[in-house]
Amino acid sequence: MQLKTDYLIVGAGIIGLTIARELCDKYPNKSILVIDKEDWIARHASGRNSGVLHAGLYYATDSLRAKFCVAGSKMLRDYSLKNKIPLNQCGKVVVAANDSETIQIQELYQRAIANGVNCSLVDEKELSEIEPTAKTSGYAIYSPDTASFHALAICSELQRELAHASVKFMFKTEYIENINGNCIKTSQGEIEYMTLINCAGMYADKIATDFGLIEDYVLIPFKGIFLYCNDLIGNYRRHIYPVPDAKIKLLGVHFSPEYDGKIKVGPTAVPCLARENYSWLENWRFNEMREVLGTEFKLLWSNKFNFRDLAFAELKKQTKKGLIKYSTNLVKNIKQFEFTDWGTPGIQPRLYNLKKQEIMDDFLIERGLNSIHIINSVSPAYTASFAFAKHVAENYL
Ligand SMILES: Cc1cc2nc3c(=O)[nH]c(=O)nc-3n(C[C@H](O)[C@H](O)[C@H](O)COP(=O)(O)OP(=O)(O)OC[C@H]3O[C@@H](n4cnc5c(N)ncnc54)[C@H](O)[C@@H]3O)c2cc1C
Repeated sequence: MQLKTDYLIVGAGIIGLTIARELCDKYPNKSILVIDKEDWIARHASGRNSGVLHAGLYYATDSLRAKFCVAGSKMLRDYSLKNKIPLNQCGKVVVAANDSETIQIQELYQRAIANGVNCSLVDEKELSEIEPTAKTSGYAIYSPDTASFHALAICSELQRELAHASVKFMFKTEYIENINGNCIKTSQGEIEYMTLINCAGMYADKIATDFGLIEDYVLIPFKGIFLYCNDLIGNYRRHIYPVPDAKIKLLGVHFSPEYDGKIKVGPTAVPCLARENYSWLENWRFNEMREVLGTEFKLLWSNKFNFRDLAFAELKKQTKKGLIKYSTNLVKNIKQFEFTDWGTPGIQPRLYNLKKQEIMDDFLIERGLNSIHIINSVSPAYTASFAFAKHVAENYL
């Protein structure tokens, strides 16, 4: 028998869960079904991230990322506190490795102020009082509102809340294809819907394409690894970030205290072979690998958006020694023996516009006939999720 639902959400990551929550509030009498190809929620980006509650310093002032990061960080903070989910309100500093980065720090500070972010520009002496382990060239930015959230606990609480409100979940249920705009084929049979909401993260572009939307885009996966510190004396107290790379638009390797105070350094950003290729032999799909490698070879050749330089620089950070060597730009007196264990890797997608030959920066929402597609849910999509979901429910559903 064919399953029927009013709202069908594909993807049980933070975006799918927060949109389901908004729908529940808005349409309590409608049926909502969330499907995911994995065996449980948050198996991909939402369970494999840095866990940093961003304040919204970086993003272009008129972008969706800036708007929803600033609003979403407050909502995520409130949700964590209300539900007694651990939150480490540790703050963050952004430091400059050299004189040219000092200029970028000042530009970044202006942008943060334009975004309405609470932060200050501090000199080297002030920095040494705020975060004694950090070092900078000239100036740094101090953001007291940056924090660390517990990504898995937040998703689990949302799932519990939704199940209690009669939202149905089907796991190990993979979206396979669009049948006729009101019905999809999944690995567990066909599902008929009134509205489909595509929140498939790393595969959202593929599903949107199946609905005849977005052309000329290709997704490039970058793998991030983390190295944990056994900092028993608690030297590192705040997030320590570099000036972000303006071309690739990733925030760069940083020091981060987690929600429980554990310190990690990462994530790196090495171009990888497939969208979910977390370890050497994991999740190989031949056609996907061919597509990803094809794009990466072209970019290695053309060095568009510094791809070749980035790939080689990031490869050097794949060993403990390489990662620690890079980190000397951020902190004083780092001791390699303190950094012992690798953490769970995550993969960040970058959506590349083949026609314009540029990286797509912002979140993208595409509307089909009976469907909505959330594409490019890149960082800080976790931080932004509650505010972003509200926007989607109010304006698209
Ligand atoms: C290394 C790393 C560090 C990050 N750090 C931060 C940070 O510090 N702060 C921050 O705010 N953000 C951070 N992010 C970004 C953030 O984690 C993501 O933007 C966010 O989790 C995206 O959520 P999502 O629900 O869109 O995607 P996902 O969590 O990937 O969820 C998508 C879901 O769709 C499912 N799915 C995919 N295809 C199908 C299909 N065909 N059928 C059925 N189900 C399917 C997947 O199984 C998955 O569960 C980071 C990301 C990474 C990778």
